[in-house]
Amino acid sequence: MAEGQVRDDKSMMKDNLNQLEAAYEIIKTHKLISLDEKKNVIEILRHPKRLVRVSLPVLMDSGVINVYEGYRVQYNDARGPFKGGLRYHHEVDEDEVTSLAFWMAIKCAVADIPMGGGKGGIVVNPKELSSAELERLTRALARALAPVVGPNVDVPAPDVYTTPQMMSWFKDEYSKYVGKETPAVITGKPMEDGGSLGRDKATGLGAVYTLEAYLTQTAQSEKEITVAVQGFGNAGLHFAELAHPNWKIVATSDSKGAIYNEAGLDIKALIEHKEKTKSVIDFPGAKNITNEELLALEVDVLVPAALNSVITEKNWESIKAKTILEIANGPVSLPESEKLFRKGTTIIPDVLANSGGVVVSYFEWDQNMKNEHWELNDVNAKLKEKIVTAFTTLWETKEKYSLDLRTAAYVMAVARILEAEAKRN
Ligand code: NAD
Repeated sequence: MAEGQVRDDKSMMKDNLNQLEAAYEIIKTHKLISLDEKKNVIEILRHPKRLVRVSLPVLMDSGVINVYEGYRVQYNDARGPFKGGLRYHHEVDEDEVTSLAFWMAIKCAVADIPMGGGKGGIVVNPKELSSAELERLTRALARALAPVVGPNVDVPAPDVYTTPQMMSWFKDEYSKYVGKETPAVITGKPMEDGGSLGRDKATGLGAVYTLEAYLTQTAQSEKEITVAVQGFGNAGLHFAELAHPNWKIVATSDSKGAIYNEAGLDIKALIEHKEKTKSVIDFPGAKNITNEELLALEVDVLVPAALNSVITEKNWESIKAKTILEIANGPVSLPESEKLFRKGTTIIPDVLANSGGVVVSYFEWDQNMKNEHWELNDVNAKLKEKIVTAFTTLWETKEKYSLDLRTAAYVMAVARILEAEAKRN
């Protein structure tokens, strides 16, 4: 997962709350749902439901005990159990995890999966720990969170620097705590231990389905589409690989730099090159460029799939792509998002474009709950259905109320969560 994701998130919750208020105004003005305004149900969404802070004593290989700090924020579960990742990073803090938990509630509601929003993490640099120490740390986290998670309560998943192996350890420790094998307590597990087929590529594939739906909607599906993808990690690589037959990927990048070939990159050969050389740069036939140059390329679709806040007040004017597909979380800062919208750029927001991962996580949970294994084709077909349905509703909301797609996504999600809250309060 991308390291930069866990930085400069202090103001993220403020942005989230501003978006919440803006969405609520639109919901009220257009009477999107029937609400007893005197009850002020919206107030519930302004606060996380539960915030857990834990101290995790871990026996290190040296024989010393270190104590690590961990968090789990359970923001809202009106639509179903809390759902969201666990990240291991030295800059994890309460504000960041709270904002991300709110985000997950919005994302699950946009995709219309019956899950709420949660997020957690440990303040640790996992690169400094041995595998045995990471196992003891993860098991300590599972024991500490066991009273407040569970298949019908809160279902974590991998995130920044957490792996399927860690999900497996968490599941095992939780199962010991409750006295029975409980795979549905966590998703993102290895295939051999209750994971789902299709989870590894789900974010990239979900983004491909989102772009397909957008191009069909805007009558561009027959056109040759050029694409630049920033980031060639889990999300960006799989997006590029799966998008390759449909569209011309002319540029991509990683932390070492970017490459460009006007005639299109051979993605299969590029994956081999990256495996061999550990970077995309110096790919035969392509020109090395900088990440800034990649962002400013004249392409039809720009796909930021690396870090948050890569399009900001410093560089937004140089963006020439007419469409931005946000695979990274928050790659376009909010004020610039509005400026680009006014300039005529379409931003397909992260809360839909990268929701493939959480949708297939939900499918993993569903399979575990039913003790089933679905075929890959079934998983992908169900994912496509979810994404296309979400996109169609999003587009209708945007058209009906003359909104940009990001605002429309918040309107859709907040209306759904408020409706659920209103029924129970
Ligand atoms: P990753 O760590 O696997 O890949 C990140 C990529 O970005 C790498 O290729 C890295 O070299 C590149 N990168 C790092 N710094 C860069 C820089 N300064 N300029 C250009 N490239 C740089 O991470 P990932 O899992 O692919 O996640 C990427 C983004 O997508 C993150 O914002 C993440 O939150 C979001 N996301 C991922 C998933 C998922 O399932 N993987 C799901 C939802 C959202």
